[in-house]
Amino acid sequence: MSTNRVEYLFDYFTLTNYKSLLELALEKGFCFIVFTDNFLADRKDILWRHDVEFSPDIALKMAQIEHDLGVKATYFFQIHSEFYNIFDCYFSDILKKIKLLGHEVGLHFDAHYYGVKTENELTRFIELDKNYFEQVFDCHLSVFSFHNTNSFILKCEDYEYGGLVNVYSKYFKERFRYCADSTGYWRYEVLDELLKDSSVRHLQVLTHDAMWSTEVLSPRKRVMKSIQDNADRIKRQYDDLLPMLGAKNIDDE
Ligand SMILES: [Zn+2]
Repeated sequence: MSTNRVEYLFDYFTLTNYKSLLELALEKGFCFIVFTDNFLADRKDILWRHDVEFSPDIALKMAQIEHDLGVKATYFFQIHSEFYNIFDCYFSDILKKIKLLGHEVGLHFDAHYYGVKTENELTRFIELDKNYFEQVFDCHLSVFSFHNTNSFILKCEDYEYGGLVNVYSKYFKERFRYCADSTGYWRYEVLDELLKDSSVRHLQVLTHDAMWSTEVLSPRKRVMKSIQDNADRIKRQYDDLLPMLGAKNIDDE
């Protein structure tokens, strides 16, 4: 077994264990709420969040697992992603399926795309993305998360920008402990330890789709596999399309 496999808990990040973690949260009495719900001081509340970075396909698998357990999460989608185009029919259908499973949808806002440097610009560009997203998907957005934070973004701690609740606002930072699987390992605290800790009564959990896989893989291989799976799907789509158009699909042989 490689050292990294032990040190970075590769075996932890399977979809089977993902389900076990949700079951553990339920067993420990956590109530799954969304960002616009009122949290209750005398209740154990958990905000379960997904920043969809690489693979809406895997996000859908997670959404199904949560639905089967009767749990509600919030899925934040990008509209400027290098990894998926949410306005492609294939991915738009996935977003709709996730909503139909009863989950909330939010905007995973990319301030870097616009080179945002002030809070005024932040408000303007969130409004721009929000309006387009809402009109395309005929939905109402109420919450956003930042994609790839930097020192400026970390200082944007207001409760709301551009009409959307900010999950990184001081409000949530002061009231909820935080746990994230960013880049495929627990940077600060391990999720199941927090779930088992009876002093933790309000917790925000951030998970990322491709950081979880069916088989045990390194974080890099989990991401590479999700990219390859998507590329294979697009290649099949091309091969299937040409006969439908009555066109020849000419190769070397
Ligand atoms: Zn992100």
